[in-house]
Amino acid sequence: MGIPRILIVGAGLTGSALARRLAGAPVSLTCWDKASRPGGRMTTKVFGDMKVDIGPKFISRKPDDIEDSIFTELIEKNLIQPVTYDLHQSHSVHTNTRNTPAPVQIKLSTLEKEIEKELEKEANQTTTTLNEENLEPVGQDSNCWLEGDEQDCTVLVKPDNYTATFGSQAIVEYLLKRSTVKPETKTFLNELNAVEPQNSSDVVWEAQNHGRNFKEYFDAVILTIPVPQFLGTSSAVGRPLGNYLSLLQQDQEVYNNLEKVTYSTSFSLGVFYSKSCTPLEEIRQQKVKYYPGNDIIKYISVECEDEGGPVSVCVHSHRTWAHQNTELTKEIAKDIIYKELENLLSPDGSLPEPLQTMCHKWRYSQTSVPFQGVPGAVTLIEEPLLIGAGDSFSISNVGGCLDAARVAQDILKQRFNF
Ligand SMILES: Cc1cc2nc3c(=O)[nH]c(=O)nc-3n(C[C@H](O)[C@H](O)[C@H](O)COP(=O)(O)OP(=O)(O)OC[C@H]3O[C@@H](n4cnc5c(N)ncnc54)[C@H](O)[C@@H]3O)c2cc1C
Repeated sequence: MGIPRILIVGAGLTGSALARRLAGAPVSLTCWDKASRPGGRMTTKVFGDMKVDIGPKFISRKPDDIEDSIFTELIEKNLIQPVTYDLHQSHSVHTNTRNTPAPVQIKLSTLEKEIEKELEKEANQTTTTLNEENLEPVGQDSNCWLEGDEQDCTVLVKPDNYTATFGSQAIVEYLLKRSTVKPETKTFLNELNAVEPQNSSDVVWEAQNHGRNFKEYFDAVILTIPVPQFLGTSSAVGRPLGNYLSLLQQDQEVYNNLEKVTYSTSFSLGVFYSKSCTPLEEIRQQKVKYYPGNDIIKYISVECEDEGGPVSVCVHSHRTWAHQNTELTKEIAKDIIYKELENLLSPDGSLPEPLQTMCHKWRYSQTSVPFQGVPGAVTLIEEPLLIGAGDSFSISNVGGCLDAARVAQDILKQRFNF
């Protein structure tokens, strides 16, 4: 075999981190993404000079993270910066420039009393003093959130958390730039078949895109898309066709584990205002405000580049509400969530008229049940090589996806001896 031809399906975080890792490797790399831009769930919506991250707000590490070279690179390049907390200082947010990285400091002690109630229900915690060692995981995001208690004030701390300095999509764009691949966007993997080309006994993958009416051949394919999307176990339309499915079914143990992978659904609303107002300003100072007592809204984050200038707001729905309303169109969801935002922040109608509102339905938001053992990446079919990677196989956060890329690279290295 000459240089192995490798196809990465998906130019999200996992795909781009894998492409970055394979820069310099003796492989011929191709990446397809069905969307018009790379990013996947790391999507930043832009309106004028304003931006809002409608995917991850925080960049989380895996709880048991080993030192990841890409995470370190992102810190060094100031694409992500640590969130630190200081209970005794007033809340200050150090703005950052490209040349002078500085940690963002957020006072977390002002979080709502309702959180306290919710946490009591969820976590059954004992009161402790705030000390990294006796912080305990709580709640649905238990792999991320920790609870501590000091001076009658409950705080939530995400340890080792970071924010994306220029938006989460910039991380993916950076990784792709540092790789050797330019993703082919608007290129849906419509069909994936194992075929034996003429004059060769090696079975290879034939990947097809119907829209542009072309097919290409690969020695290995890495699927970084959520498992239910390529398995067709959910109501998702557009599952790729092809014999990869029947080949997958030949290993019942792997197939059963794939079938168990499930995702939560969520809606994100991005809102842009030309100027701030008191309720938005209060949230902006904390950066994020959580509403565990509210049925629809989970949290609101507010950002602005210049004091007194335009502000962007991101509203994330509760998973339970989103789960119960999966069939809502994003237009209807947008109206419901915006109304709830007004109810919460300005029952007297003091929110300014928005310049723009946009809603996104994340049918596959974060993994609820990952592949057994959370291996990061798995060899799904040996011949021709098909690898599954991404948060279907890992912890559903940035650290988990970076880990998935590392494991996928190891599998490729072993197979192709580089
Ligand atoms: C609302 C929300 C909040 C989150 N909060 C956090 C957080 O606070 N902290 C944190 O660390 N993480 C968070 N996450 C999780 C994190 O964003 C994801 O784990 C990560 O972005 C997943 O990256 P991925 O590359 O594995 O998958 P994706 O980003 O889903 O990438 C898959 C790509 O495949 C493409 N694709 C799909 N099907 C096909 C096909 N047939 N052909 C071609 N291309 C295809 C898609 O267009 C997509 O670009 C959050 C996610 C969401 C949605």
